[in-house]
Amino acid sequence: MLLGCIADDLTGATDLALMLARNGLRTVQTIGVPAGKAPDAEAVVVALKSRTIPAADAVAQSLDALRWVRAAGARQVFFKYCSTFDSTPAGNIGPVADALLDALGAHFTIACPAFPANHRSVYQGHLFVGAVLLSDSGMRNHPLTPMTDPNLVSVLARQTNHKVGLVAFPEVDAGTEALRAAFARLRKEGVRHAIVDAVSDRHLMTIGTAVSDLALVTGGSGVAMGLPENFRRAGLAPARNAIVPLPAAVGHAAVLAGSCSPATLGQIEAMRASAPAFEIDVLALAEGGDVAGDALAWAKPKLGRAPLLIYASQPADKVASIQSRLGRAESGEMVEHAMAKIATGLVEAGVGRLVVAGGETAGAVVGALGVRTLQIGPEIDPGVPWTAALDGPKLSLALKSGNFGGRDFFTKAFQVLG
Ligand code: ADP
Repeated sequence: MLLGCIADDLTGATDLALMLARNGLRTVQTIGVPAGKAPDAEAVVVALKSRTIPAADAVAQSLDALRWVRAAGARQVFFKYCSTFDSTPAGNIGPVADALLDALGAHFTIACPAFPANHRSVYQGHLFVGAVLLSDSGMRNHPLTPMTDPNLVSVLARQTNHKVGLVAFPEVDAGTEALRAAFARLRKEGVRHAIVDAVSDRHLMTIGTAVSDLALVTGGSGVAMGLPENFRRAGLAPARNAIVPLPAAVGHAAVLAGSCSPATLGQIEAMRASAPAFEIDVLALAEGGDVAGDALAWAKPKLGRAPLLIYASQPADKVASIQSRLGRAESGEMVEHAMAKIATGLVEAGVGRLVVAGGETAGAVVGALGVRTLQIGPEIDPGVPWTAALDGPKLSLALKSGNFGGRDFFTKAFQVLG
């Protein structure tokens, strides 16, 4: 293992893993810290669920992941968080970065959530989402991590007792040597965390090169773009700039949707026009009906190369009425449980190519299938790759965060897999 990555959520981990795979590293994603030995890969992304848990727990989980990637031989560690710097004054970006630095015996790192291709840029330490400051974007009203201060130097300063500095645009724009000189200057001034400006992919590549000798790099997936080249330059990774192909996909095809996001609802509508579809009746589920059994009995005779669709997703008004009758958490769990059961039954019936829509839904499905390790394959739509399960059943999986993907995502996915 060359690069050991610790990501603070599941779909963010996939996003990072895809970035590394696209830039030529053979990359595997694990769900949680694996118990056994490391998979055969040049980069491993350990997906935690630590973004909004208490800081002490996030630190403990991250240190656990760090021990594992170091034992596997990682030469550099990357701590991945959201490109909108999702955090609160209590953490978890500052506390986790500090704990990782301490454990690595290092004294300096960068913090760069910029991802210009996804409309996140950092200028003079201020984070922009598209044309507006972070604090004027939807993140202002985020239910868990409202971001009301766009100045990342002050945001991070509230999360650490150490000094936070800034490398502003001119020094990043001037190239690798100027950037390294800026790092040296900040280190002398006692800065431990440097927010680094970036408004283009060229800046991300410059930053990637300049951080080659840092034990720890922190950021969004954008800044990881430049890291694979460092390992190639050092002769540690083969010359490669494409995704390593996955093992050939086999078995029947199916889509499971538990996300109620507008993007997923549109994708369901598009697929229903040409594919067999089964709607989960959540109220029947609540009354104790064997809805998972009914879905499987419906699906089994129809399984084949052409995908079928099973979905619980409903528009916001229907979800609100279901939640008011059954409770928000209760109905969510009930649906996730049913989806997990259906996924297990489908795989037993020969499904080998499975798309799952919804972050929590995907977590429940991979948990039930016993899948803990995923090799990253070709990209379907931005941020969503096909993956191959390296443990559990022989399976190609595409795990889609609710709002990702174009309207034709479900049909396109199977075309990409071939
Ligand atoms: P997203 O990625 O869009 O947030 P998630 O899968 O993370 O999707 O979250 C969607 C949640 O909504 C899940 O807990 C799922 O079980 C739940 N859910 C899905 N369909 C329904 C429904 N018809 N009524 C109530 N909850 C639902």
